[in-house]
Order: sequence, then C-alpha cells, then structure tokens
Amino acid sequence: MDKISIKSQRQKKGSCQPRGPKSNKEEAEFGPGKVNVLMCKDCNAVYFRKSWHHRLKEGKEISEDKPARIVICPACQMVKDKMFEGQIILKNAPADKKGEVLNLVKNVGKRAFARDPMDRIISIKEQGGEIEILTTENQLAASIAKQIKRAFKGETEKMKISWSHQESVVRIVLNFKLLW
Ligand SMILES: [Zn+2]
Repeated sequence: MDKISIKSQRQKKGSCQPRGPKSNKEEAEFGPGKVNVLMCKDCNAVYFRKSWHHRLKEGKEISEDKPARIVICPACQMVKDKMFEGQIILKNAPADKKGEVLNLVKNVGKRAFARDPMDRIISIKEQGGEIEILTTENQLAASIAKQIKRAFKGETEKMKISWSHQESVVRIVLNFKLLW
C-alpha cells in the first residue's frame, strides 16, 4: 500500500521559491521559514525579497543562521536549456559599423546585467551578413533594439517586432538601409 503523506505543505505566499514545482523532500528540508535565500550554483546570484540579486560584496545575505539553498537560477537554467526570451536579428549592418553596433549591444547588456542578474545576453552570432542576439528577457531585447535604432538614426529601417503570446518571447528584426 502506498504511504500517503498528509504532512501539511503550506506555502507562504511570496516566499522564496524558484520557478517550477518542488519535490516533497525539498519541502521537508527547506520548508518556508527555514531557508531565507536561494543561491545559484552557476552564477552565484542570490534570491531574497522576492527577486534575484547579485551577491552583496560583504556576502551578509547568507550566514550560518541564514543558510542558502543551492539552486540554479532561471537565467542559467534558460541558457542550459538553450532557450531565450528575446531575439534580435540585425540585417545588412555595414562592415564599417559592425564594431560600433556590437559594442553598443554589449554595453547595454552589461548595464542591464549590473541592474538585474536575470537580464543577460545569451549569445551574439554573426552569420551571412546577419547578426543574431539572444537574451534571457524580452524587455532587454526590446531595449537593445531601441538603442541601436536611436544610435543609427536614419541608417535603419522600421523595426519589426513580433510577440509570441504563449511564450512571452519577442522577436525583433532590424534592417540597416542599403546605401548604394
Ligand atoms: Zn545563475
């Protein structure tokens, strides 16, 4: 006969939990109230006060009486699963502007990551005159595309933005004008 656990599995609303269901074992070991923070084993980001943060320099968010549960954060999980939430395709970027474009993309990515460890550029790939940029957050992709558009005013065509309603994924195509 199967043993049926009738242990209460109350979960405090808004308590620290990664996305996805928890196993009963985890619930027993790390139930609400026992663990204050989560820490990602891959990037060291920590989860507390309902969002992910970079680890504080002093590291005081985790201590012996405030142990962290080691998990994998949603951004690292997304990279692992080869998923993304934002995609930008840049077409026809002139050879002499490519360096500038890529620097801009990387800088926007860096600033976003500094603000929020879940905002990341996953990859930047160049292939056959196209540059593809993948991001973990759709808003980051939209922000990168907007800033390219602003920096190369008059040199780009209208952005094509398509949202997928089911997955909250955004795909943005931005063409540089062909100037010959
Ligand atoms: Zn992580």
